[in-house]
Amino acid sequence: MTATKPAVTVNGVTYRWPSQPVAVVCIDGGDPAYLRQFLADGAVPNIARFIRQGFSTVADGTMPSFTCPNNMSIITGTPASRHGISGNYYLDTATGQPVVMTGPELLRGDTIISRFAEAGARVVSITAKDKLRRQLGKNLDVSRGNVSFSSEFAHRCTLAENGIENVLEFVGMPQPDMYSMELSLFVLEAGVRLLEKARPDLLFLSLTDYVQHKYAPNESEARRFYAELDARFGRLADLGAIVALTADHGMNDKSDAQGNPNVIWLQDILDAAFGKGDAKVICPITDAFVAHHGALGGFVRVWCRGRATPRQIIDVIRRLDGIEAVLDRETVCRDYDLPPDREGDVAVISRADVCIGASAADHDLSGLAGHRLRTHGGVSEAKVPIIINRPLNDEYRLKAGVTTLKSYQVFDFALNGTAQ
Ligand SMILES: [Zn+2]
Repeated sequence: MTATKPAVTVNGVTYRWPSQPVAVVCIDGGDPAYLRQFLADGAVPNIARFIRQGFSTVADGTMPSFTCPNNMSIITGTPASRHGISGNYYLDTATGQPVVMTGPELLRGDTIISRFAEAGARVVSITAKDKLRRQLGKNLDVSRGNVSFSSEFAHRCTLAENGIENVLEFVGMPQPDMYSMELSLFVLEAGVRLLEKARPDLLFLSLTDYVQHKYAPNESEARRFYAELDARFGRLADLGAIVALTADHGMNDKSDAQGNPNVIWLQDILDAAFGKGDAKVICPITDAFVAHHGALGGFVRVWCRGRATPRQIIDVIRRLDGIEAVLDRETVCRDYDLPPDREGDVAVISRADVCIGASAADHDLSGLAGHRLRTHGGVSEAKVPIIINRPLNDEYRLKAGVTTLKSYQVFDFALNGTAQ
């Protein structure tokens, strides 16, 4: 038996030193509906076993239900009001320009893995898309056997930047395409190999939602993807890891009966109401790879740039069909635990079957190529699974029984809540 090392406190939460490897997996776009379908089908036997022998629940993800805010919540163990990453983009009011929020300097507080690494643990962070890598790897010293890379740039990893090199040979897979399920499978395959060869203490493995944007739970491509994921979750567990599965957000179909996206073009509506450019709509789902969703999501922010006041803008938006909520800055920050300095003047959340865009002319929907639009961002996509392949100890079973978990508690539950 190894000597127990002291616990590590990160952003006010104290985490027990892992007595065996702990692998937290973020299934990007892993809506609970996929698991319901595939558990019923028998397509995910390892996940079924985890649920039977361990712990499972449906938790509240971080709002807005986008990738960056939720990955940062999971890796820091805090809500967005603490870590500051409330979207992929926000508007810099000093310059009037949208700013991408993926830089580590914008992330407030520490990551759980960097603090464990400082305390002497061996840690691994692997993400599908490179946009998450630098924030997840904030202050992580990769010179001491720690690893941080993305499968997007697996072919160009260096020891100096990523703590690992020759990754394609190591993993035994070719460089995956950006729009492929292999981009996610590569993350898990690399995690399995590292667990076999280096036995790190903590792993964070973050996938991409390309498949879920494209395929509904009843489609065979989605089933095949989950079966492939499930096989690798089984291998992580077989190697002795505590495996904790969660998601950054869910996914909903937002097309009409004819297959056309149900879009509220909010910039066009506000331009017509108040004059062009008076209010600025920012779609915080936007990133460099939007072919599968056209930068359309269930949550946008509006900044007042001219004469229209937040109250006037809210009055226009609340009359639109398809809106679930339209809130001023103070209310959305209070209700959804968001950082006020990065919030717009008005936040707009759409209904489950509707999405919101800026100006129709600025969104390229050609990448949908005949597929129905499936996307996320709203409250209706903020429910996510938490599944751990170990039963909870008494204290955490009680905790889980009295309140709906937050997905940012997944490291807490995996490290402190399992019977080790
Ligand atoms: Zn995502």
